[in-house]
Amino acid sequence: MKLKYLGTAAAEGIPGIFCNCPVCKQTRALGGKNYRSRAQALINDDLLLDFGPDSYWHACRFDVDLTKIRTLLVTHAHEDHYTPAELAYRENGFGYLNGDFNDDDSDYPHLNVYLSGNSFAYAPVHFYETQIQKKAPVDFHTVAAFVPFTAGQYTITPLAANHAPGFEALIYSISDGKSTLLYAHDTGIFPAETMDYLQATRPVFDFISLDCTGMVGSCGSHHMNIRANAVMKQKLTAIGCAHEKTVWCCNHFSHNGRRTYDTFVPVAAEHGFVVSYDGMEAEF
Ligand SMILES: [Zn+2]
Ligand SMILES: [Zn+2]
Ligand SMILES: [Zn+2]
Repeated sequence: MKLKYLGTAAAEGIPGIFCNCPVCKQTRALGGKNYRSRAQALINDDLLLDFGPDSYWHACRFDVDLTKIRTLLVTHAHEDHYTPAELAYRENGFGYLNGDFNDDDSDYPHLNVYLSGNSFAYAPVHFYETQIQKKAPVDFHTVAAFVPFTAGQYTITPLAANHAPGFEALIYSISDGKSTLLYAHDTGIFPAETMDYLQATRPVFDFISLDCTGMVGSCGSHHMNIRANAVMKQKLTAIGCAHEKTVWCCNHFSHNGRRTYDTFVPVAAEHGFVVSYDGMEAEF
């Protein structure tokens, strides 16, 4: 499986959209991997994790052909992760013009969007009905924690996140039959029901991407920092969900975490974690 991080920041980005704190000033001065756009990731060339406000820019910057995406997994409806208005641009006239598309063309490749019922309900119903479902080839599927489903070549298991309870936020286990990814954004220390499910089903993850919004600062209970990541690493290892070569990666950062990429890498390394950056690729 190939994973590419397209964006690695929390809601306001790094530098923050309206911020001149020391981290944001340092980021502007240093550039490179220190710059972080809003969180999104690509699996192979056909599965996207989240569809936030920087999706268009990610497609341009990293040459992602969004017409190839068949599966979009939405973690939750916070605006840094889900801006469904952009999906309407798959409608004929805005997107995918091959000259012979019409509303009855069943051959047109549909984009399948998976999200929790509460995240789906958060966007106005009239928006889905009028702007997407009747015009653009986008199919929405509501999914629930601990109910696996298949999408294309992938077996996907949503797990309950410890984040934004009103949205029924989800984290995802994604397997292509050869390797398995755990994409855990946004979440605090996993809730008991998720740990119980993992202990009972024992998936073994080859790559684990953990919310590290707080880096070396505080982050509340609905996100994590590096200390909480280390706790999760210990817990997941203890129940057999990792192996010796599992890659542990911190991702989804806020400038409130008080570190740039450059100054956080050695801190994360002490705990056995690599640090994501926009454009980082992994194959496992
Ligand atoms: Zn977020
Ligand atoms: Zn800042
Ligand atoms: Zn969130």
